Amino acid sequence: MTAPQPPNHPLVREAFPELAAELVELLEQEDERELAATVRSLPLVAECGCGDDFCQSFRTAPHPPGQPFGPGHRCVTLSPADGMLVLDVVDGRIMYVEVLDREPLRDTRPAQG
Ligand SMILES: [Zn+2]
Repeated sequence: MTAPQPPNHPLVREAFPELAAELVELLEQEDERELAATVRSLPLVAECGCGDDFCQSFRTAPHPPGQPFGPGHRCVTLSPADGMLVLDVVDGRIMYVEVLDREPLRDTRPAQG
């Protein structure tokens, strides 16, 4: 074996197509067209895991939880009709999607097993 392969992550647009479409639309509203274009290929790396019932945030890049994002980091606050959506972006890459106070996300992928 060579270096371990990164796990194969599903895409956000496969798991949560409605949310992905909403993200694209809201990013375009904010004039963040380059970020909007990345939503198509955004991987769903891991759920936030904090366990708060208002939080459905997820990671979209393999970044160690709790570590600072470092230089190049900015937050993009969107204005959804419902709840809060905030993106953590580093150098044009969406690292983390904060999904707060929203209706439960429906995972449209077929159930495993
Ligand atoms: Zn959380």
